[in-house]
Amino acid sequence: MNSYVQSVIDKVKEKHGTEPEFVQTVEEVFSSIVPVIEKHPEYVKYDLLNRMVEPERMFTFHIVWMDDEGNYHTNIGYRCQFNGAIGPYKGGLRFQKNVNPSIIKFLGFEQTFKNALTGLPIGGAKGGSDFDPAGKSDAEILRFCQSFMTALYRYIGPDIDVPAGDMGVGGREIGYLFGQYRRLTGAWKNGVMTGKGLASGGSLIRPEATGYGAVYYLCEVLKHENDSIEGKRIAVSGYGNVAWGIMKKAAELGAKVTYMAGPDGYVHDPDGINTEEKLNFILEMRAKDSMHCKPYAEKFCCEFVEGTKHWGAKDVDIVMPAALQNDVTMEWAEKIAASGAKYYIEVANMPTTNDALNYLRSQKHMIVAPSKAVNAGGVGVSALEMSQNSERLVWTAEEVDQHLRKMMIEIHKASAEAAAEYGLGYDLVAGANLAGFKKVAEAMMEQGPF
Ligand code: GLU
Repeated sequence: MNSYVQSVIDKVKEKHGTEPEFVQTVEEVFSSIVPVIEKHPEYVKYDLLNRMVEPERMFTFHIVWMDDEGNYHTNIGYRCQFNGAIGPYKGGLRFQKNVNPSIIKFLGFEQTFKNALTGLPIGGAKGGSDFDPAGKSDAEILRFCQSFMTALYRYIGPDIDVPAGDMGVGGREIGYLFGQYRRLTGAWKNGVMTGKGLASGGSLIRPEATGYGAVYYLCEVLKHENDSIEGKRIAVSGYGNVAWGIMKKAAELGAKVTYMAGPDGYVHDPDGINTEEKLNFILEMRAKDSMHCKPYAEKFCCEFVEGTKHWGAKDVDIVMPAALQNDVTMEWAEKIAASGAKYYIEVANMPTTNDALNYLRSQKHMIVAPSKAVNAGGVGVSALEMSQNSERLVWTAEEVDQHLRKMMIEIHKASAEAAAEYGLGYDLVAGANLAGFKKVAEAMMEQGPF
């Protein structure tokens, strides 16, 4: 390890001991970019890395809201505008009770390199709140979103910072947030947020984009291996928007998702979650209760195993973690490696602990792809929504889908080429870090290195 890179990682560890997820992502990204640092001594001279690990701006705010019984509650809101070198800050809002500064910062840091990989001019940001949407009424969600935006609206804008959804923030929440933004500012501001409903200026294919993009990326990996998606069995975790998009696109292309998992356990459907009836049922199930996937097994008479994960199941070709961070730890990684599955395609943001990821990467029989490349289609289509809004145009679903597919092909190509350039072979993890980092670093240098 290069001594400058190591010194930055050590400093982050020392300074941010209470932010484990943030330390983890810095270590993961920076351990890949050593060859670029060695090629660019000026990055060391101008101390680029220490600058990169400090968000350009990060703030908290309180959100006071009233529940349906008239009781008042206070939550913390966050926005971390991590790096704006290549475009307006861009990234989602996460509403989940475990949200804390470490999670927001790790997501903002990842987002910076992910957004760079899309090839579009968007900087990296993330935000959210420790508000728990589970079990809240529609009116409570509305009041919370209005209060959240009342605190945030001064600090965002189409050329400043363009928020979107993430866990706990879907089309409904974006609608309420955007409505309050308009009420407060009296302006539409080129849509200001992405992931809006179609009637409010949203883009076709945005809800499906992350899942579809992940499958398009997967197809590129398969092509590289002279393999095809046809007939493949896929295990996902989660059954949210992203996992749902994977199920739908995989079915369309002749593959099938045979495992999915939720907080309550996992479902095994050997026939595949691939019919319209099954896919619609998941939407209904999720809308009613986002914590349980057991009703799917009851409805379609398949196996449900409570309180555990399916990682390591033997009848799987492709593993796609699409739920929370650090879902796959070393113990699960060993089971996955032993299962014989060849493809480990991360989808959720940082779903694998660093030791588990490095272990999987070291398996000769496996191909590993990183989330910041695989899930970049979501934010990529968000950038297309920004384009459509500012140009006052509406693209057809086919046009957006074509752009998305092209973007995923390019991301895969750029990652593979970056790894090859530095003699790393087909290392998609290192390649994505190298390609994303190079772009952000170049922009930072162009804008005044000191
Ligand atoms: N939250 C999503 C992500 O992790 C989408 C962000 C966006 O569309 O701005 O990339």
